[in-house]
Amino acid sequence: MSLTIRSIEARVLDHPVRQAGAIISALGRHHASRYVTVVLTANDGTRGYGQAATTTTWSGETAETAATLIETCLAPELLGRGFSEPAEALASLDRTLHGNPFAKAAIDVALWDLWSRSRGVAVSELIADRDPVAWIPTRASIGCYPPEETVRLAVEFWNRGVRTLKFKTGVPGIDDVARLQAVRDRLGPEPVFTIDANGGYPTADHAVRAIDSLLPFNLALAEQPTPRDRLTLLAQVRKRVPVPILADESVFTPDELDEALELDAFDVLSIYPGKNGGFTHSLAMARRAHAAGKACTIGSNLETDLGQAAMICMAASLEAFPVERLACDLMAALFYDRSDVRPAIEFRNGKVKTPTGMGFGVAPILD
Ligand SMILES: [Mg+2]
Repeated sequence: MSLTIRSIEARVLDHPVRQAGAIISALGRHHASRYVTVVLTANDGTRGYGQAATTTTWSGETAETAATLIETCLAPELLGRGFSEPAEALASLDRTLHGNPFAKAAIDVALWDLWSRSRGVAVSELIADRDPVAWIPTRASIGCYPPEETVRLAVEFWNRGVRTLKFKTGVPGIDDVARLQAVRDRLGPEPVFTIDANGGYPTADHAVRAIDSLLPFNLALAEQPTPRDRLTLLAQVRKRVPVPILADESVFTPDELDEALELDAFDVLSIYPGKNGGFTHSLAMARRAHAAGKACTIGSNLETDLGQAAMICMAASLEAFPVERLACDLMAALFYDRSDVRPAIEFRNGKVKTPTGMGFGVAPILD
């Protein structure tokens, strides 16, 4: 069954994101979510939807660069041509455009959505290696705030049922030991603590010192302690600390995953379509990491429900994601006042519900 695309629309949309408790990390403050919604229409009228959750500090893309590249560079590769599966179309996009993973992922996710809708099935039916998990625990990011605000946010998320708290760390002038101590004092031993330095520790020694200083608070994961382009530093830190290392910024692409595996640089891999340049790549990377004995977890660039739908599908469907042990960054309900899709993705007691409709199970509200 061939897939022929009749039209591609790329809309730039601003999604009001909460400012109180906005995520502040070594990469700066996430103060705005100006993203691209992609609508693909096939020859038979079936539609598929995707999102490019763009930020300059993360992938070097803006909504405008993504929309422009989609319209001028990627759409001409796809329009009117027949493809047997999304991977074939994505290969064509990868030959045409280097980098710009979120722009390409928005199209690839929309292709998967459209492809499975045209077959009348959910994407999970095409990819699952287990019965999809119905509810997935969320991990909530707490920005680099002083102790009092850190505690306020931790208590808010805890009261909403979130059981894994991810502390952004490594911002100069903020005392991470005092922050984590204050939250343990307030909430006790039960919350799972992870940290994410977003590459903020410039050397392996810096990272080891920082992680060692936080060991009394029982860290479950240390995420991306060292700079993204220094994979060897990540491998060095992993050998020197007793906390599992989560690779995020250092592993965007399948090639980077191969190198990280060769260096044995991580324990857990952060995966999601925008970062990986497509659902197709995320799928392949999750399977590869799992085969190598590594666990996967969903990362995020603060996608809305539209972007989250594909992430939830992947986490729910694959054994590579031990979601009960490793919560996923599925935080839309915590940072956006309202959903941008129908049906809205349910969030209850710290968990998101896996959509069950055709495709990824949601459609953007475009009016
Ligand atoms: Mg991260």
